[in-house]
Amino acid sequence: MGRFAPTPSGPLHFGSLVAALGSALEARHHGGRWLVRIEDVDTPRAVPGVAEAMLAALERFGFMWDGEVLWQSRRTEVYADALERLKAGGHVFPCACSRRELAEVPDSALARDGSLRYPGTCREGLPPGGRPRAWRVRAGGTIRFEDAVQGWQEEDLARDVGDYVALRADGVFAYQLAVVVDDAEQGVTHVVRGADLLGSTARQIHLQTLLGLPVPAYAHLPVATNVAGEKLSKQTLARAVDEDSPPRVLTAALGFLGQAPPDGLDGASVAEVWAWALDNWALECVPRILHLPVPG
Ligand code: GLU
Repeated sequence: MGRFAPTPSGPLHFGSLVAALGSALEARHHGGRWLVRIEDVDTPRAVPGVAEAMLAALERFGFMWDGEVLWQSRRTEVYADALERLKAGGHVFPCACSRRELAEVPDSALARDGSLRYPGTCREGLPPGGRPRAWRVRAGGTIRFEDAVQGWQEEDLARDVGDYVALRADGVFAYQLAVVVDDAEQGVTHVVRGADLLGSTARQIHLQTLLGLPVPAYAHLPVATNVAGEKLSKQTLARAVDEDSPPRVLTAALGFLGQAPPDGLDGASVAEVWAWALDNWALECVPRILHLPVPG
C-alpha cells in the first residue's frame, strides 16, 4: 500500500507531481493500493480551496486513488491519543522554551539539517515558573534504515536531530507525529516521497518504535529543483503544472524519474501514458541523488 500525502500550501507543481507519480507507479506496479492524504494538520496556515484544486489537478492527470481522501485537519483526537501514549511511556516532556530563548542559547550545536538543535533545557523538568508550551520527544539511539533509492542511512538522533517537537507551542500536532499515526492507521507499507523528507525518516521510525507501530519501507525520490538549485515550492514561486497538457507533463516526470519513455509518448493520450508507465516502471532506474534540476 502506497500513498501521496501533499501539504496543500500551493498549486500542484512539477515536484509534487513527481512524488505523486513515483508513489502511484510503485504501488500499482506491485499490484498495491494507492491512497491520497491531505496533510493540512497545520490548519491555521491552510489556504481554503488549495487542497481541492490539487485533487482536481491529480484527476486531470489521470491519477486514480483508492478509497476516501484522508484529511489530517479532521483527525486531531487521533493525534492527541498518540501523544497521550507517548506521555504515558515517558517518551515526551513539556517544554517552556520560546523560539527566541532557543535562538539565544550560545553554544547550541546545529542539527544535521542546519537547524538549531534543542539544547535540552526542559528535558529533566520545567524551569521554575516555566509554562509548558510544546511537547518534545526525547531523542536517543541510532536509527538505521535502507532507503530503496538513496541506500543505507544512519542517524544518531540525539546528536543529529535533538529532542524534537510532537505538539507545537501553537497547539498544532507536528508533521512527524501525524504522519506516522496516519501511515500506520491506513496500512501504508511503502512510503515513496521526495528526498527533502529523507532527514525526517529517522524521527518517524523512532516514533513508530515508541508507539509500537509497523515501520514501512522507504524510497526517497530526487527533489525537483529550479536552475538555481532551489526546491520547487510556493516560496520559490514554482509554477503550477500545465493542466492543459497532462501527457507532456507526465512524460517529462517519467524522464525526470530516470524512466525511458519512448519518443512521441508526450503526444499520446493520458491513458496511453499511464499504460506505458505501469508496464515499464522501474524504481531501480530512479537516479540515486537528492536533487535534480527540472529540464526545460
Ligand atoms: N506533506 C509532506 C509534504 O508535502 C509529505 C509527507 C510525506 O510524504 O511523508 O512535504
